Amino acid sequence: MAKLTVRDISVTGKRVFVRVDFNVPMEEKDGRMVVTDDTRIRETLPTIELLIKSGAKVILASHLGRPKGKREPSMSLRPVAARLQELLGKPVAFAEDCIGPEAENAVAALKPGEVLLLENVRFHPEEEANDPGFAEQLAKLADVYVNDAFGSAHRAHASTEGVARVIAKRGGVCAAGLLMERELKFLGDELENPARPFVVILGGAKVSDKINVINKLLEKADTVLIGGAMVYTFRLAQGYKVGKSLVEPDKIEVANAALEKAKRLNVKFMLPVDDVIAVPVKTDKLDKKGKPVMDYTNIRVNSDMNCPDDAAGLDIGPETVKAYSAEVLKAKTILWNGPMGMFEDSRFAEGTFAIARAVAEATAKGAKSIIGGGDSIKAINKAKLGDRITFMSTGGGASLEFLEGAVLPGVAALTDKPTGCCCSR
Ligand code: AMP
Repeated sequence: MAKLTVRDISVTGKRVFVRVDFNVPMEEKDGRMVVTDDTRIRETLPTIELLIKSGAKVILASHLGRPKGKREPSMSLRPVAARLQELLGKPVAFAEDCIGPEAENAVAALKPGEVLLLENVRFHPEEEANDPGFAEQLAKLADVYVNDAFGSAHRAHASTEGVARVIAKRGGVCAAGLLMERELKFLGDELENPARPFVVILGGAKVSDKINVINKLLEKADTVLIGGAMVYTFRLAQGYKVGKSLVEPDKIEVANAALEKAKRLNVKFMLPVDDVIAVPVKTDKLDKKGKPVMDYTNIRVNSDMNCPDDAAGLDIGPETVKAYSAEVLKAKTILWNGPMGMFEDSRFAEGTFAIARAVAEATAKGAKSIIGGGDSIKAINKAKLGDRITFMSTGGGASLEFLEGAVLPGVAALTDKPTGCCCSR
C-alpha cells in the first residue's frame, strides 16, 4: 500500500517530528568533534527545506553511533546542528535532550519555519527497546510525524515506529519524507514491474546474508549474475574445490535450492567462468579488530572451476567480466547489491569496477540502474561513477530486508495513502 508523503500533507504552523538519519562519521579536531562526511545531512535537505517553506515547526530527531543507552559526549548531535545550520543557511536550535522539559521548552519556542535538532535518541535505552512510555514522550512534542530515515526503517525503535503509532492513534498524520519516498519508489515500485530484461547482480561475502534476496529476486529477474565470495558456496554445491576461498559449507543446500529455483523459473543464473586467485599469507600485522592482516602472493587468473588448495578466489576474472558486462548492457532494469570481489584491495577491485562501468554505460543507454546499498555504493563512488547511476539506496540492512520483501516497521507505521489521493495542499 502506498504511503502518504510530505508532499501530500498540510503542515503549516504544525509541530512536525522528522526522524532523519544523521548517523554521520565524526572526528576530533582541536578538542571538538567535527562532521567528516555530511552526505546523510545533505540527503535530508529537500525534506527539511520543503517543511520550512510550508511553515512547519521542524523538530529533527536521529541516532548517532551506539551509545548503548548512555549519554556519550563524543556521540552528541550538537556538531551536526552546526553543520546543518551552514547547509541550510539559517539557524538550527539544539535541545540537550530528546524528551522532557529541555526538549518541550525548545519546541514551545519554535516559530513556523524554524528548525530544532534534538539530542541523540539513543542516549536513552528506551529508544532501542521501543518503550511505549518513551514513545509517548517523543509524541508529546509533535502533531505530525515524518520519517526520512530509510536506513533505520527496518528497526522497530521508539523514534522509527513507536512514536508514529502514538501520533496515528491520536489522529495525527504519519508521512514519508522525500528521501524515504524515493527509496520506496525505486526499491519497491520500480522493481515490482521492471522494464525487461531485468538483470540482478549480487555479490558480497556470504550466501547466508543474501539468500532471501536471491530467492525473492529469482521470481522477478530475467538474469542473475553472481560474484564475490558467495560464488564459492555455489561452486562447492556443484562439487568443485574451493581451496582457501571464503565459503559457507553449511549453505550448500541453500545454494542448490537457489540453482534449482532458477532452472524451474527459467531465469538465466550465471556464475563466473574464471576467477582472480591468490595465495593468502599471514603477516605479523593486526587490523583494527585485532585480526591478522593477510597478504596475497602469486596473484593470477584461474579458468579452472577448481581452485588450487593453497589459493583463494578474490575477484571475478576477465572472461567473466566480459560475459557479465554483455548481460548488463542488454538490460533495461539493473539492480546491484554487493561487490564482485575483495575490492578494498586494488589488486582485486577490477571485476567490481568493470561491472560498475558496464552499469554506468547501460544507464547512459537508457536502463534504470538501482544500487541496493552498502559496499556496492562505496565501490561505485570509488570508481567515480556515482552520478551515472539512476538511484543509490541509502539503507544498507534496510535495503536488503526491503528487497527480501519484508515489511519494514518504520514504513508500516506510516499512514496509507487513500486511494485516488493526490496533493491536498
Ligand atoms: P557484503 O557486505 O555481503 O556485500 O560483502 C562485502 C564484502 O565482501 C567486502 O568487504 C568484500 O571485500 C568481501 N568480498 C567480496 N568478494 C570476496 C572474496 N572473493 N573473498 C573475500 N571477501 C570478499
